[in-house]
Amino acid sequence: MKKEQYLGVNVSVMTYSEILDDLRMRIKDGKQSTVIAVNPEKVITANQNPLVKELINDSTYQIPDGIGMILASKIKGGELSERVTGIDMMEQLLRFAAEEDLGVFFYGAKEEIVSEAKTKIEDRFPSLNVAGYENGYVKDNEALVKKINDSGAQLLFVALGSPKQELWIKEHMGSLNVKVFQGVGGSFDVFSGKTKRAPAFFRKFGIEWLYRLLKEPKRLKRQMNLPIFLLKVLRSR
Ligand code: UDP
Repeated sequence: MKKEQYLGVNVSVMTYSEILDDLRMRIKDGKQSTVIAVNPEKVITANQNPLVKELINDSTYQIPDGIGMILASKIKGGELSERVTGIDMMEQLLRFAAEEDLGVFFYGAKEEIVSEAKTKIEDRFPSLNVAGYENGYVKDNEALVKKINDSGAQLLFVALGSPKQELWIKEHMGSLNVKVFQGVGGSFDVFSGKTKRAPAFFRKFGIEWLYRLLKEPKRLKRQMNLPIFLLKVLRSR
């Protein structure tokens, strides 16, 4: 599997459909797979926390979620040309699950958010088998693992924010019969309709960050990670 590396963090050079084709084979072989979204903020965190770096690099697919990763690749003469966002990957995986008749489970976010996201997703993909869901504030992991296994789900979407969701996946995947794990951050908030995605114009030009900044100016501090990241990449060998 082709990867590029920025500040020691791996990024997969794969499109949505290449990932789905690869997953189809891995599922057939009985292998478990993990999808993690990589953006400049996470790369910076990874460089401060070796455990986070290990979590990212040990994942099966590290998807370039954000224009920062594409720019880094341009700077270094890499091959990344298009973003693979967490939310679009989730949508592709839902369609894939519906087509292949694989059950899905949603874990994370507040009760009203995850249940509303489930309803909206079922409306959108009528043939999808939603095997179950749980909010992100339950304490009994043993009961949760049992609930997920009993549901028969093959795909699990975990929305606890980063790196909490990735840590949870790493800790529990060995006890789960699930084949595909994706950490999806705030995606249930988007599917539920609570958070709106940026309008098409911003998405087309890869400037969703600008839309979010205009709506929520206090994000500036988080967004400073983008120029900091690019400077570090420029200076790296
Ligand atoms: N969340 C949760 N349990 C927790 C902490 C957070 O379910 O213990 C949920 C929270 O309700 C929200 C999501 O995790 O739906 C966090 O999304 P955020 O946008 O912060 O994640 P990011 O995409 O920035 O990693």
